[in-house]
Amino acid sequence: MNLDNGCGASDARKSLSVEEARRIILETLSPLSGWERVATRAALGRILTEDVVAPCNVPAHDNSAMDGYAVRADDLSADSESTLQVVGTAFAGRGFSGIVGKGQAVRIMTGGVMPMGADTIVVQEVARLEGDRVSVPGGIRRGQNVRRAGEDLAEGAVAIARGKLVGPAELGLIASLGIPEVSVARRLRVAFFSTGDELASIGRPLAPGEVYDSNRYTLHGALTRLGCELLDMGVIPDRPEALEAAFRDAAAASDVVLTTGGVSVGEADFIRELMERLGEVSFWKIDIKPGRPMAFGRIGNTWMFGLPGNPVAVMVTYYQFVMDALLKIAGLDPLPQRPMVPVVCTTPIRKLSGRREYLRGQLFAEDGVWKVRSASAQGSGILRSMSEANCFIVLNESRGEVAPGDTVDVQLFDGLV
Ligand code: AMP
Ligand code: MG
Repeated sequence: MNLDNGCGASDARKSLSVEEARRIILETLSPLSGWERVATRAALGRILTEDVVAPCNVPAHDNSAMDGYAVRADDLSADSESTLQVVGTAFAGRGFSGIVGKGQAVRIMTGGVMPMGADTIVVQEVARLEGDRVSVPGGIRRGQNVRRAGEDLAEGAVAIARGKLVGPAELGLIASLGIPEVSVARRLRVAFFSTGDELASIGRPLAPGEVYDSNRYTLHGALTRLGCELLDMGVIPDRPEALEAAFRDAAAASDVVLTTGGVSVGEADFIRELMERLGEVSFWKIDIKPGRPMAFGRIGNTWMFGLPGNPVAVMVTYYQFVMDALLKIAGLDPLPQRPMVPVVCTTPIRKLSGRREYLRGQLFAEDGVWKVRSASAQGSGILRSMSEANCFIVLNESRGEVAPGDTVDVQLFDGLV
């Protein structure tokens, strides 16, 4: 494993672009093995480890796409009205058991199985029923409004490829195939702790100079949403023995260890020394704001991400580097493309070139047009800015200042499904 890319522990002065850091991380990681069988409903939010193959045709039978009449195209005149005798009805789930003979039609509902002999559906809107006789206009196309067996999925076809995250559509699709259970990757075990002598856990008053540890709560939320099994190890003081014990315990118990704090210049040397003994970890400076320092590597078989301490920097680095890394380890394949949407920015933004900045933005509609403004407080310690935002405004390395009216890229916090 080469994590250095010319800027490892031996040379922490060079810095990496966001893209380089992401590339190194994603190329270095490999998916876990380990899977379990779960009932279809319980697969929500899990990653499939086997293709879901259609055990039957979907739909299983030729059936009607509309309410109307099942007829034989040969009985119809091309350019004038034809009159047929209605000999029965086919409902969805209760078909017509006879055969449609010459000059005959069967009343049929949407989803009703095509009666034997019939090959075409005439929609009820164009048909005229009088007693047991139905008249249909000319110009009806053979096979019209018939859904063919296997049209959605042929028996044996891959309905969902392995590596896919199961969402509501996949649950429904699996159920539509009559499959009661599927194989999914085992949940990723993630251990995490906060480092810092100044940190207090909630539930007791703050001593002078202390701050409450928020990072473990943010990470608890983000990791829970990702479906990980969590091991919250609390706050670890900036002492080598305590940190060493925490790293050893965390690595022994998990697939991934996440830490926050203690990777900035000054503090990093401390953890770096420890990492040289315990594992293979590189300390990076990344051309990103917020979140410049970050550590990445492994301790034994466990991956390790050392995030910065600032609460907003934790969220930015988590979402830009760690989340997709965890998804890859968990077996997601392919990783999702994360859409960047260009919109007009209504506020000025100061920006230094040479690094990528992630500002907290508020996307809003004005006169039917979507625009974005930057959240008022952008300090990397101000979590409220994340709470009030609904997107990141992403300003690339080469970008300079933003004037009101300029177009910027945004990355939405929420997806629909
Ligand atoms: P560090 O990266 O350890 O130098 O921390 C940078 C800043 O983030 C300092 O002001 C810390 O007090 C703050 N910080 C670090 N960890 C946490 C945490 N878990 N919760 C809230 N603030 C933190
Ligand atoms: Mg610290």
